[in-house]
Amino acid sequence: MEEIIEKKQEITRGGEFIVKETDCENIFTPEDFSEEQKMMKQAVMDFIDKEVWPHKERFEKKDYKLTEDVMRKAGELGFLGVAVPEEYGGLGMGFVSTMLVCEYISGCTGSLSTAFGAHTGIGTMPIVLYGTEEQKKKYVPKLSSGEHFGSYCLTEPTAGSDANSGKTKAVLTDDGKHYLISGQKMWISNAGFANIFIVFARIENDKNITGFIVPNDPNNGITLGEEENKLGIHSSSTRQVFFNNTKVPVENMLSDRGNGFKIAMNSLNVGRIKLAVACIDAQKRVTKLSVQYANEREQFKTKIIDFEAIKQKVAQMATDTYVGESACYRASKDIEDRINIRHQSGNSFQEAELKGVEEYVVECSILKVAVSEDCQKTSDEGIQVFGGMGFSADTPMESAWRDARISRIYEGTNEINRMLSVGMLIKKAMKGHIDFINPASKVEEELKGIPSFEVPDLTKLFSQEKIIIKNLKKVFLMLA
Ligand SMILES: Cc1cc2nc3c(=O)[nH]c(=O)nc-3n(C[C@H](O)[C@H](O)[C@H](O)COP(=O)(O)OP(=O)(O)OC[C@H]3O[C@@H](n4cnc5c(N)ncnc54)[C@H](O)[C@@H]3O)c2cc1C
Repeated sequence: MEEIIEKKQEITRGGEFIVKETDCENIFTPEDFSEEQKMMKQAVMDFIDKEVWPHKERFEKKDYKLTEDVMRKAGELGFLGVAVPEEYGGLGMGFVSTMLVCEYISGCTGSLSTAFGAHTGIGTMPIVLYGTEEQKKKYVPKLSSGEHFGSYCLTEPTAGSDANSGKTKAVLTDDGKHYLISGQKMWISNAGFANIFIVFARIENDKNITGFIVPNDPNNGITLGEEENKLGIHSSSTRQVFFNNTKVPVENMLSDRGNGFKIAMNSLNVGRIKLAVACIDAQKRVTKLSVQYANEREQFKTKIIDFEAIKQKVAQMATDTYVGESACYRASKDIEDRINIRHQSGNSFQEAELKGVEEYVVECSILKVAVSEDCQKTSDEGIQVFGGMGFSADTPMESAWRDARISRIYEGTNEINRMLSVGMLIKKAMKGHIDFINPASKVEEELKGIPSFEVPDLTKLFSQEKIIIKNLKKVFLMLA
């Protein structure tokens, strides 16, 4: 099966961009959106303009109910079920559509972005991707419609980046019908209004944790901590969740015993690339507002946009946004194509989705790191363009900067994702999925040989940029 899939596909394999040049005709960009995707994008933008932007101020004032209400309305319009197959109440759209809905729903406020990501991604996808038929039928339709909300309980006070070290326990009852879950989870997004918790706990002294679907029932040993006081995403509910002998039927185990760490990590792969695209519309908004302000504000009898320093900032903001957007949609289409090829080759929906995303785990981590950092930089420069007004909570720059900060921390910190991307690249090379050895040897030979004095033809479009990228790739190959 693997061989057929590799032969059938012409798309670049995950991580292969380091050694393979892809023709620009084979690279997907937002300009390639289908009519259906364009309509979806417009519908989400209209929704944000009507239901979110007018209440922007309330989102900065810890209005958790507002976030919940907006999420419910998003559910009524189908936005929460874009990635969910139709048989479980979703729209069953492809990966690219999932990404574009995520982008445009997320840009206005980080509170909604977090609630949306936590619900549609890590709060729902573990059931869609690992659930049994019964579990999917029972839980997914309500999650997809926004009748119920999901939340993901992995992090604990002593288990953050080292997520598999959690102390939460799941003990089988004597009659073998239930697990009793006890433990403390912290930093749980959507906890304040979640109906379903995806909980990771350890059975006996297992090496790896196990995933469970746990309905939120205060009469079943579940209590919540107070809302956390956070730097940003003020209307995103973030609480501790305590489980005290919470009785969970054995049928609610997700996948197999000890498979929880895998579920947790694979759910995060999707979460990472979605987090990256979620930052893009935020960057676009900050850039647009900065251009607008710089064209209005005058100092020294000159519009500040005419000062080179301000032009440079705006140019950098636009560049970073363009690069992030292009890379996110390129990777999304590669993921979607690979999922489709796997599907056509006989993989089940779950296998195809999981393996399709897993192939691009390197890109998911790279994009999470690069775009979250660009988003932070963009909002920081946005404040600078606005000067003193940028520091005021009365302009959207201040909240954009505070909201951007979390993206470097959750879905795996950027330090962890940096290590992951390099580690996974090397693993792929060791497994023979990507040939680094031959290209690296060629670079070595080139370095040892006589340098070429050939004058490159720079008349073709982007020829100079292509040379720079080729050389950057050579540097990577030498270092790796
Ligand atoms: C607002 C918010 C919402 C969240 N939502 C959720 C949620 O819904 N569900 C959930 O389960 N969790 C959630 N989290 C938790 C989040 O995923 C963790 O905060 C994150 O994984 C980091 O864990 P930590 O905070 O314990 O930091 P630590 O793991 O203690 O890390 C502290 C620092 O050390 C660095 N570090 C750690 N290990 C290494 C290493 N090996 N090499 C180099 N550097 C390292 C980290 O990068 C970081 O800079 C949320 C967190 C926040 C703040």
